[in-house]
Amino acid sequence: MTEPYVLETRNLVKEFKGFVAVNDVNLKIQKGHIHALIGPNGAGKTTVFNLLTKFLIPTRGQILYKGQDITPLKSAAIARKGMVRSFQISAVFPHMTALENIRVALQTFEGNSFSFWKSGNTLHKLNARCMELLDAVGLAEFANTTTVELAYGRKRALELATTLAMEPEILLLDEPTQGMGSEDVDRVVELVQKAAKGRTVLMVEHNLSVVSKLCDRITVLAQGAVLTEGDYATVSADPQVREVYMGS
Ligand code: ADP
Repeated sequence: MTEPYVLETRNLVKEFKGFVAVNDVNLKIQKGHIHALIGPNGAGKTTVFNLLTKFLIPTRGQILYKGQDITPLKSAAIARKGMVRSFQISAVFPHMTALENIRVALQTFEGNSFSFWKSGNTLHKLNARCMELLDAVGLAEFANTTTVELAYGRKRALELATTLAMEPEILLLDEPTQGMGSEDVDRVVELVQKAAKGRTVLMVEHNLSVVSKLCDRITVLAQGAVLTEGDYATVSADPQVREVYMGS
């Protein structure tokens, strides 16, 4: 029997007062892939992300996670199943240190502080896991630095670490390189490659050079619908894509 896709949408539709922002979208995300969702502004990328994580309720259609219909589930239940989203807007506590931010993320993931301690974890184990996560995103040396003092790119890395604390099976990244200079962009490429080991990633990304370096598969959205899908070479050579997306 073939394994189901990690994530699949079937005829997903979102209407805003009669305006169709997402129009019959069928996504199929394969396990272990880094899959990009690209398209011009207003194509519906953010709306699709919001539907997948139930920040918005679909008008019609289904969302399947590992073959299971998760359309009726709420955001928190979806995250607990292993589909976790990292936000475009920095979602870390500014006056806490990097280590404290990770600690909060870990303890929240465990349910609450009480159940965290009940499960036999020690402060030593907790701190070690926090340091492991900080190290994974290249922030070990900034463990005791408050978030406000971190440069933008490092803040985004911390945010990624708080997401990884939830041990996602599929990681949804919303424009991870947005607002970054080329050095930070290179670092994000490395980080995403590392974070993608042993898991699946679905990302919205504007930077096509990042997409070409990272992604196994690309879905192009235009005016709410899937225009085409394939690897970078196929998609970037498609005349329709060039017209709507690359403007050539
Ligand atoms: P993208 O992320 O690809 O730039 P969006 O998903 O943000 O596109 O938006 C897709 C379309 O849906 C746009 O035309 C946008 O104006 C519209 N839209 C998004 N959210 C809302 C909303 N809450 N109410 C009305 N229209 C919306």
